[in-house]
Amino acid sequence: MDFRNPGAQVYVPDGATPSVAVSRTTHLAIGAHQDDIPIMAYDGILQCFGRDDRWFLGVTVTDGSGSPRAELYADYTDEQMRTVRAVEENKAAFVGEYSAAIQLDYPSAEAKKPSDGLVRELANLVAAAAPEVVYTHNLADKHDTHVGVALRTLAAIRSLPGSARPEKLYGCEVWRDLDWMNDEDKVVFDVSVHGNLAAALIGVYDSQIAGGKRYDLATEGRRLAHATYSASHAVDSAQALIYGMDLTPLLNDDEADVSDHVAGHIRRMQEEISDRIDRLS
Ligand SMILES: [Zn+2]
Repeated sequence: MDFRNPGAQVYVPDGATPSVAVSRTTHLAIGAHQDDIPIMAYDGILQCFGRDDRWFLGVTVTDGSGSPRAELYADYTDEQMRTVRAVEENKAAFVGEYSAAIQLDYPSAEAKKPSDGLVRELANLVAAAAPEVVYTHNLADKHDTHVGVALRTLAAIRSLPGSARPEKLYGCEVWRDLDWMNDEDKVVFDVSVHGNLAAALIGVYDSQIAGGKRYDLATEGRRLAHATYSASHAVDSAQALIYGMDLTPLLNDDEADVSDHVAGHIRRMQEEISDRIDRLS
């Protein structure tokens, strides 16, 4: 496979050729950094785990070179960090039985600006993978690189003809969860099963966790909190939930404004809160 950046790589855990690994994809995740995919797109990993009729492809856009470092990694150079993070991503792909992990090796600055090259590369990947479902960052995330990657993903899919687009595009949780959305607006992924797998997947990112950012515990905790606090009057029917923002309407209408789509969710949440206060006053 040809990639735009010389440092890009593809890892196929079961040894299939990269083109086979891409073309068998049913569930595709496009994330900004190494570790974002198991956090936000675990539903896709789970949908495909242990199956031979569904395959998960994880695409990581940035090179991981600017990441924070501490403890064992405190003296690592940017180049060493980039290598460590790439290896960690491939470890997760092995644990999660991905069809493949692709790392495109862009500097994060490039993902944060409109980039025709990145959009074209993502469009080619989506066209080759022809997935049913695509997971990316949600548009209300508070990390610039995450929102940049979500916007580039959307632009990439919009550049394809309708017949080449996925059935569903979901924006998922990393830096800002989606608990604030009204229940009828939320996409709810029940990820209660294989809690051990969820822990193993995030646990491989030692370079990110060792410095004191307990993404492993926080991610599990967020899913548990969602399950418990999702409904106040019912016993928990799930042990772990992930929320998504449905971005599919932005694929079905190329003129639909991205900012308006998110503002609609915020407006409905505001109305729900105001209505409750008015009703109870
Ligand atoms: Zn990230």
